[in-house]
Amino acid sequence: MTESSFSYEQRLSCLDKLQSGTFDVIIIGGGITGAGIALDAASRGLKTALVEKNDFASGTSSRSTKLIHGGLRYLKQLQIHVVAETGRERAIVHRLAPHLVVPEKMMLPVYKGLSTPKWMISLGLWMYDLLAGVRGDDRKKMLNKEQTLAIEPLLPEKNLRGSGYYAEYITDDARLTIEVIKTAVKQKAVCLNYVESKTFLYDDKGKINGILCYDHLENKEFRISGKYVVNATGIWVDDMRKRDKSLSGKHLLITKGIHLVFDKKKLPLHNPLYFEIPDGRMIFLIPRHGITYVGTTDTVYKGDKDNIPVNGEDVHYLLQAFHALFPDIDLQPEDIVAAWAGLRPLIYESGKSASEVSRKDEIFISPSGLISMAGGKLTGYRKMSEKAVNRIVKKAGKHNNIKKRSVTKNIWLTDRPFASSKEIRNYQKELWNNLGPEKTDEETLSRLIFKYGKQVEKILEHFNRYKTEKDTEKRLILSELDFCMEQEMVCKPLDFLERRSSRMFFETGSVKKYYTDILDRFSEIFHWDEKTYREEKTAVEKRLDEVEIKKIRAQY
Ligand SMILES: Cc1cc2nc3c(=O)[nH]c(=O)nc-3n(C[C@H](O)[C@H](O)[C@H](O)COP(=O)(O)OP(=O)(O)OC[C@H]3O[C@@H](n4cnc5c(N)ncnc54)[C@H](O)[C@@H]3O)c2cc1C
Repeated sequence: MTESSFSYEQRLSCLDKLQSGTFDVIIIGGGITGAGIALDAASRGLKTALVEKNDFASGTSSRSTKLIHGGLRYLKQLQIHVVAETGRERAIVHRLAPHLVVPEKMMLPVYKGLSTPKWMISLGLWMYDLLAGVRGDDRKKMLNKEQTLAIEPLLPEKNLRGSGYYAEYITDDARLTIEVIKTAVKQKAVCLNYVESKTFLYDDKGKINGILCYDHLENKEFRISGKYVVNATGIWVDDMRKRDKSLSGKHLLITKGIHLVFDKKKLPLHNPLYFEIPDGRMIFLIPRHGITYVGTTDTVYKGDKDNIPVNGEDVHYLLQAFHALFPDIDLQPEDIVAAWAGLRPLIYESGKSASEVSRKDEIFISPSGLISMAGGKLTGYRKMSEKAVNRIVKKAGKHNNIKKRSVTKNIWLTDRPFASSKEIRNYQKELWNNLGPEKTDEETLSRLIFKYGKQVEKILEHFNRYKTEKDTEKRLILSELDFCMEQEMVCKPLDFLERRSSRMFFETGSVKKYYTDILDRFSEIFHWDEKTYREEKTAVEKRLDEVEIKKIRAQY
């Protein structure tokens, strides 16, 4: 393996760096919010550290609907500011990582009897485009029944009035998070997973000046000193505020959302769909490389935040919602190939239901100086981060070498980014033509480019090295793993299977087939003893059972 700036081989040196000197900013939490703040702070010249108790993006940031969107339904709730800001951010994040934040046309079918008539949908979509600054061909179109069915023949004809057809972006949330982390590391931030912040450290005036951490891989405790500490722990924000004895006033409302994944053959949609279900809520149906996923639910959650179950009621609700639009497509629990559940860190508003609560973000600053960032969306991470770092820069006062304004609008989230969707298509074609006789299929290549952009070339270098391996799929999965170990601080099999490659949810069959090969590769690289091998194998098998919702399927 070659050395790189962000491989597991650098872990001990990262740990040393975290313990030496005083950081300007310490960020707790390696989801999209913490990652964004680390990038913003480091790129302004602040000495930045980030710690994540589990793996990067292991919280909500790998469990969303995976859309970079302005949130059309927030328009209905008249949250104009949220729609406008996230709408503008969509375009920026797409420009920064065009392979990973991909434009797609979303269809909103209109049926007789829905609560929102077609004219109102047309007006809403027009305003949505206006607020987000959408131009040219990307602007919404209202389609009649025939045009709608020509694009999406799966839709039932009866009572169909037409559809709204408008621009949104599809992403991979965990990959977006890791790319932001890697970019922050390039800007000299020190970011480490499996390091938990246990307690805050205070000076004699009661101001926070560091954190006491526990490294779950080396099993040791250590301190990090810092001038400002940011609590970007998502659904754990209030737990941290409680630890700082500053939980008062506004607090979080945690709601759960699940998604179900089906084989594309079972649900052969051409377009992402967004539709109203009988209880007035809106549901997404998103096709993506070989599968289609459906989501989501929105229910208040008070259980274990580290183990979020998908339960029978959630599954029943989503299947019922699906059948309200597609009564003739027989989807049953046994058709579910994978499922995931995530928790939304929302700001509680008295008298509002889970679905009605605003998705806006807020910053709380405690008397001890703890800066907590709460609420928000994946889509708005860059702007949220800018706001948090603005507060730090303002508090820090005049500093010659610290930039007052955020520069992240112009920092690509990947090396050699694509300039346009057309360039992505040409790149894929050229790469395909240049591949040797043992090439993988074109669909696989497109999937890899979506996840890794031009970094796919590094994966293909590994692929060439595994020449003696006759099984092409195994050769590819091992190559992908080697790349992620070398470049993306993968420390455990689930880091790779769930968050770097998303295979656990979207290529579950490949995980079932090759997970022992993955474990063997880990064992070889990390020199695991038998006990560690057994523990990691159990962890993967347990997670596979959860993702495949085996217990629920057995009950039906
Ligand atoms: C079902 C669902 C669908 C969604 N869909 C979308 C969507 O399509 N588009 C969109 O824009 N938004 C969406 N969202 C919202 C979006 O996913 C979240 O706003 C975002 O991911 C929150 O990121 P975060 O970094 O704040 O939290 P997290 O990703 O949860 O990160 C917090 C991190 O802090 C770590 N941590 C906690 N305590 C400690 C500690 N003591 N020490 C160190 N680390 C710690 C955790 O392990 C965790 O990784 C969705 C959310 C849900 C639940």
